[in-house]
Amino acid sequence: PRFAYDTYRRFIQMYATVVIGVPYSLFEERLELARERAGVERDQDLDVEQLQQLITGYLIDIEADMDEPFPQDPYDQLWGAIEAVFASWRNPRAVTYRALHAIPDDWGTAVTVQMMVFGNSGPESATGVAFTRDPSTGEKRFFGEFLLNAQGEDIVAGTRTPDPLTPNPALKRKSMREILPHSFSQLQQLATMLEEHFGDMQDVEFTIDNGSLWILQTRSGKRTVNAGIRIAVDLAKEKVITKADAVLRVDPAAVDQLIHPMVDPDAPKKRLASGLPASPGAATGTVVFTAEAAVEAAEGGRDVILLRPETSPDDIHGMAAARGIVTSRGGMTSHAAVVARGMGRPCITSVNSLRIDAENGLARFGKMVVHEGETVTVDGSGGEVLLGKVPTIQREVSGDFATLLGWADEIRQMNVRANVDNAEDAEIARGFGAEGVGLCRTENMLTGDDAVHLMRKVIMSDSERDRRANLDELYEVQRAALVDLFEHMPGLPVCIRLLDPPLEEFFPRDPEKLADFSKAIKRDYEDVLLRAEELKEINPMLGNRGVRLAICFPEIAEMQIRAIMEAAIAAGQKSGAPVVPEIVVPLVSHFQELRYLREKLDAAAAETMRRHSAKIRYLIGCIVEVPRAAIRADLIAGAADFFSFGTNDLTQTTLGISRDDASHFLTRYLDLGIIDDDPFVTLDRDGVGEVITQAIEKGKATNDKLLLGVTGEHGGDPKSIDYFETLGINYVSCSPYRIPVARLAAAQATVRAQRQAA
Ligand code: PEP
Ligand code: MG
Repeated sequence: PRFAYDTYRRFIQMYATVVIGVPYSLFEERLELARERAGVERDQDLDVEQLQQLITGYLIDIEADMDEPFPQDPYDQLWGAIEAVFASWRNPRAVTYRALHAIPDDWGTAVTVQMMVFGNSGPESATGVAFTRDPSTGEKRFFGEFLLNAQGEDIVAGTRTPDPLTPNPALKRKSMREILPHSFSQLQQLATMLEEHFGDMQDVEFTIDNGSLWILQTRSGKRTVNAGIRIAVDLAKEKVITKADAVLRVDPAAVDQLIHPMVDPDAPKKRLASGLPASPGAATGTVVFTAEAAVEAAEGGRDVILLRPETSPDDIHGMAAARGIVTSRGGMTSHAAVVARGMGRPCITSVNSLRIDAENGLARFGKMVVHEGETVTVDGSGGEVLLGKVPTIQREVSGDFATLLGWADEIRQMNVRANVDNAEDAEIARGFGAEGVGLCRTENMLTGDDAVHLMRKVIMSDSERDRRANLDELYEVQRAALVDLFEHMPGLPVCIRLLDPPLEEFFPRDPEKLADFSKAIKRDYEDVLLRAEELKEINPMLGNRGVRLAICFPEIAEMQIRAIMEAAIAAGQKSGAPVVPEIVVPLVSHFQELRYLREKLDAAAAETMRRHSAKIRYLIGCIVEVPRAAIRADLIAGAADFFSFGTNDLTQTTLGISRDDASHFLTRYLDLGIIDDDPFVTLDRDGVGEVITQAIEKGKATNDKLLLGVTGEHGGDPKSIDYFETLGINYVSCSPYRIPVARLAAAQATVRAQRQAA
């Protein structure tokens, strides 16, 4: 009878929660009360009478809640359950989950009705979750948790502390191997078989009903990114999968978190509490106690840490919005742990000293109190909650990650370059494996006070002669910055863009600064003001910038190419391996623009090399960032050695959407499903993609050696990279921290393309 009553109370709990919608916490509270009254620690120790009382309480609560008695006809119950499963497809957490994992809404779900096995049927019964490899580290060890005389929900809900499958001296609790040795070895064998069959780490749910083992389900286990990499590399080394498979296994977007900082082990810390390191990484934020508060704060631009007794699927949106998650209960396989790992959020579970008092807006860690809004740092790798903001340090690519990226490099066809404009970033980029520079924005080299002052003098020049004299001074700054950059890219291609922004951007807006500048150059304030007025444009992004500037003031472009060639010669002499400078002209739309400029650039380059008795291989190309350049690519390619697709501006100009003002309405477009992706993040294949395709076809028809690169933000976006492979792009270029992501994504693109072709 105890078994029958326990099963009945479990059924009521689940049915009322899932089908009727009564909050689960209500039952947990009653259960806790019943344990307290009975003076027992575990549900298993409640006797028949106590269970009967509990059930009566449950039924009264439910009737009060739904205004009718709990259904007692088994067919009503069965249909209720079936309907609830179908309806679950549309509940908010399923909607959020699908949005997060890009699962189409119209797939729908299925229901299987099957016989039950019982893990709560006696001392020879149990339930648990087993992983064939450690989901946190990827280590090849059988790992998991179980509970004697219990049912599945007890483990996954994370409300009870489970026992380990294998002995763990630190826990001082008996393991499954010790208590149920026969079932344990059966389970281990089956799990190994399943792993080999599916070629991936498995997450297996099992129940032991009076000594017989049942496998309830198996699936590829969720894992941390680090574990994912290690497992993929190990499986390839064990020859269970190929290297190409291993490369495909790891989500490039998730790799991002490996490159990001971890808590500095040497920094001073004040530890609030420790728990289980359920999901690694580090995050700092202010504390909140509900999923809703997390979402609200995140929308307000705040980084938050979500503190909860445990989490449930209802908290998904809050977990996604939070930087880190801490729960007082649950083990390594609780909901919080599994979901946080999948999302790449650092997470600590089982923080026993944590008591949350949400009503009063505070949490107690033992004797220490943290109020809502105070800052904490979560060290998910070490399992520690730290007070305040703790410094973090950079990681490097090493170990299995380096092995995997090495395999990716063997496979991929596209090169990966960096968008950098200073030596420091170039150094970081090289560390991450950049194979050159895809875009150096020269305006970013001229941002120091001296450079800006000299640039302003250039702008104030009254004649070409005057301007050339002022440019000679600026030349020194430009050259020095380039030498510095080139020295960090020995022997590699470095693409340098001629000045792109409208001159107005170099001029002070603030009248006080304008006055200071006029004094510094000993000119009348009115003169300077007048020039500032002249420079003003209604729409500077479509105004005198890019190639137009170079055509109006060719001496600026000539100064830049002299600096580029001289720097290449100087850096090459020093390093022994000269860079290959690629000079790129922005915003070209007419081939005549490029032809006109190219003549001047070639002449200046030849003159510089002659003066130094040096010969440097260099290329001249253009940024394709307005549709007209693509439409006339056949002619433009006659004057260009390469096309660099500036997909930021090309998206802006093709869609006619300002890249600086788009977020307000694009968010609405995304919500309504009018577009699937933000076109400034993931390339709009149907529109911008067509423009690029046309440019490539026409350009290649004229110049089959035309080199093709992508240098907009899309160059670091995995989905876009996948597309660029199909277009025959030679290289993508992105910010230094996205290089490992791009290397992996490029290799995946190659494997996918090869498999598709086969
Ligand atoms: C682009 O337009 O895509 C580009 C690479 O340059 P920027 O972002 O500097 O305009
Ligand atoms: Mg641009």
